[in-house]
Amino acid sequence: IARNGHEPEFIQAVQEVAETVIPYIANQDIYNGKNILLRMVEPERLISFRVAWVDDDGEIHVNRGYRIQMNSAIGPYKGGLRFHPTVNASILKFLAFEQVFKNSLTTLPMGGGKGGSDFDPKGKSDDEVMRFCHAFMLELNRHIGPNTDVPAGDIGVGAREIGFLFGMYKKIRNEFTGVLTGKGLSWGGSKIRPEATGYGTVYFAQSMLKTKNESFDGKTVVISGSGNVAQFAAEKAIVLGAKVVTLSDSSGYIYDKDGINDEKLAFVMDLKNNRRGRISEYTDKYTSAEFHAGKTPWDVKCDIALPCATQNELNQQDAKNLLSNGCMCVAEGANMPCDTDAVHEFNNAKILFAPGKASNAGGVATSGLEMSQNSLRISWTREEVDERLKDIMEDIHDSCIEYGKEEDGFCNYVKGANIAGFVKVADAMLAQGVI
Ligand code: NDP
Repeated sequence: IARNGHEPEFIQAVQEVAETVIPYIANQDIYNGKNILLRMVEPERLISFRVAWVDDDGEIHVNRGYRIQMNSAIGPYKGGLRFHPTVNASILKFLAFEQVFKNSLTTLPMGGGKGGSDFDPKGKSDDEVMRFCHAFMLELNRHIGPNTDVPAGDIGVGAREIGFLFGMYKKIRNEFTGVLTGKGLSWGGSKIRPEATGYGTVYFAQSMLKTKNESFDGKTVVISGSGNVAQFAAEKAIVLGAKVVTLSDSSGYIYDKDGINDEKLAFVMDLKNNRRGRISEYTDKYTSAEFHAGKTPWDVKCDIALPCATQNELNQQDAKNLLSNGCMCVAEGANMPCDTDAVHEFNNAKILFAPGKASNAGGVATSGLEMSQNSLRISWTREEVDERLKDIMEDIHDSCIEYGKEEDGFCNYVKGANIAGFVKVADAMLAQGVI
């Protein structure tokens, strides 16, 4: 805390892990006295750089770019790039720290990292986004590589941005390698990667529900966000027979009492991905739906909640509202969307609660599968990738049960995910000595 006290999101993420991992270490002789957690919270490398670019009117702008190379004990650094005006070292360090545990849980050999910039793609032309991405990669390229550090997308970095970033990397290095994941299908991307985080979140929730002999069928589901993760979480929940009644963006949420069906979801995907519009436009087309400006959807009655927008979007009061409305299952699609008090609220009520590092690990797991396909120079079918994704989500669920099940039969998935993620990385760090 003395060293990182000015970084609230990072402290929050570390405290959440420490609460469960420190008591575990205390009972394990091999980890005692090795200061492993202390070593894990210090990034192996923190890179910050200037990104200067020119807008359509010829004006020069300067943004700050980052790459946090957090931990490479079990594989090359791996984690997304976020372009959003709120990006700073604290947010990226929290994301990089979470990524270390998440990647460990996937069973694949990937270390943890995260990066991005305070650049806001909203309202920028395609040409401006391209010039920014090219300027960003002009510096980032020297720090990454297919065996060193493999970035991917995150908030504000989708297929368009990955394309521009990859193009510049290839030009500078004169090599076609799997240095980024989330690539287009015709140039090295994996099938199911765009869907993977949302699908994986629903698969994980499905495994949790199964422990209570429940399923998505007939359940009412509330989802926040309307970006990549939210869209595909909604798609999979609908396929499994659920009624999805909300989606949101930073301006508010829409509530559709009739449920968002395939046609309405296709409208949202076009609105958000192609026209880059606002979620409020949903109610222009579907007039029976309501738009609630400036609000989050957590006061809507539901059985299952999937927060898929951003960190700390669901607080203690929101958690209380969900519980009093009978919500039985919460799976985080976003990273740390529930604040610490909300998580405690859910765990005290002993409902099914999945932390993002377990439930949203399907995205990076499929990125890991993209890396494997790139190395082998092959491309698996949609069915093959989806099967592997399902298996990985089930394995993560099993690991959470192994380390998180308590005496009364309740599974504390936060504890389970933290300890299972920790053990693999800690063992590798022990084997590699003090470095
Ligand atoms: P997108 O950029 O595709 O979508 C983000 C969504 O969240 C948008 O609807 C956006 O609304 C909303 N949002 C962003 N910031 C805020 C805010 N401050 N308040 C309210 N709403 C906000 O990102 P993704 O869907 O890829 O990412 C969503 C979350 O999932 C993030 O936490 C990310 O780290 C996490 N995640 C993503 C993975 C992936 O594979 N993409 C993998 C694992 C985790 P608006 O358009 O108004 O900004």
